[in-house]
Amino acid sequence: MNNGLFEFIKKSPTAYHAVSNAAAMLEEAGAVRLSEKDEWKIEKGKKYFVTRNSSSVIAFSVPEGDAAGFMISAAHSDSPAFKIKPGGMIKDKRFVRLSTEKYGGMLCAPWFDRPLSVAGRVVVKTDDGVECRLVDLVRPVALIPSVAIHMNRSANENASYNPAVDMIPLVCEGERFSLDDETAKAAGVNKEDIVAADLFVYVPEHGVEWNGLISAPRLDDLQCAFASLRAFISAEPCGAVSVMGIFDNEEVGSSTKQGAASTFLEDTLKRISLSLGKSGTDHLRALASSMMVSCDNAHSVHPNHPEYADRGCDPVVNGGVVVKYNANQKYTTDAVSAALFSLICEKAGVPTQRYANRADIPGGSTLGSIANTKVSVNTVDVGLAQLAMHSCFETAGAADTEYLVRALEEFFRSSVKDAGDGKYLLN
Ligand code: ZN
Repeated sequence: MNNGLFEFIKKSPTAYHAVSNAAAMLEEAGAVRLSEKDEWKIEKGKKYFVTRNSSSVIAFSVPEGDAAGFMISAAHSDSPAFKIKPGGMIKDKRFVRLSTEKYGGMLCAPWFDRPLSVAGRVVVKTDDGVECRLVDLVRPVALIPSVAIHMNRSANENASYNPAVDMIPLVCEGERFSLDDETAKAAGVNKEDIVAADLFVYVPEHGVEWNGLISAPRLDDLQCAFASLRAFISAEPCGAVSVMGIFDNEEVGSSTKQGAASTFLEDTLKRISLSLGKSGTDHLRALASSMMVSCDNAHSVHPNHPEYADRGCDPVVNGGVVVKYNANQKYTTDAVSAALFSLICEKAGVPTQRYANRADIPGGSTLGSIANTKVSVNTVDVGLAQLAMHSCFETAGAADTEYLVRALEEFFRSSVKDAGDGKYLLN
């Protein structure tokens, strides 16, 4: 399982690549690619998927019988990284560096002194318009060097990193590297034809499994994205349409045309209902019998700093799927969604754990509550426990990927019905 995850991560340095690889996995499993610009003809018993901006994807599987509602999973395709600015390079007398800015809130320190590569997409001029192409330089082409301890004696105390000064990646001395040449070569086009680009600096390191743990770049949230893909592909839906979404831009607030705050999920669900011949009222009724699992990695107790964890809501790596709670609803979990999800995990034989922030630590936000403002359904926020979240090389439990796959397989095979008077039927 984790070898498959490592392979997926290796081929997915950016959200564009993650979605392209997800699409390939879905097509191999027989899912039919749809386009938002076309009319959809949907048949019962088949799987479909649609992408937006090539960086978000929603797949859905229609059961043979009547579908009461939607069983939806959500994960994200992006991770914190350094985005290359237009122009790309900063040249001075001695060095050539990449002109970058932060994408998302990363831990800066782990980015130092590692071989780095560049990937993303370029937009190329064609005879009648433009065309997007994925690029991945694969090999190391850059590095952010630390300042030696001899020059900065306080480097290990009160470290702070200025992204405009300390975090600029070096590409070479002199004139040995041209970003335009390299990206054009990787895209298989002339550099004059590249009109614009979305390029990121990434860590090309491979994942490793060691002593029951896994370490790799971008585990948040490709571990959940990969697990939800695997579960979606293997589970046959029964009483509901199963829907698997992987959204871009979670790390920068989701408010883009393809993010979880966009209309992408809402539009897709509406089109599924309309294509199945349902009325607008039928669609709203289906939403009332739907459920969402928002899957985004969670914090394990830290071995050196257990004081950051909340006592009693302190999950650990390899302990099973983590259900996240927050009184201020940064996590959507409530008693109903938690109860339904725990029954699903119980059926699947998957252990669950609880996470809540220490009451004096605000914590981060995620997909669930954002998606709920557009598609309002019973939602539970879950994730897999990990260490060093938003480092460029993160660590999680080797057993947990499989736990999430099994939990989501059971989820996709289930259906939830609001029976009124605070009663919910789970099939
Ligand atoms: Zn995340």
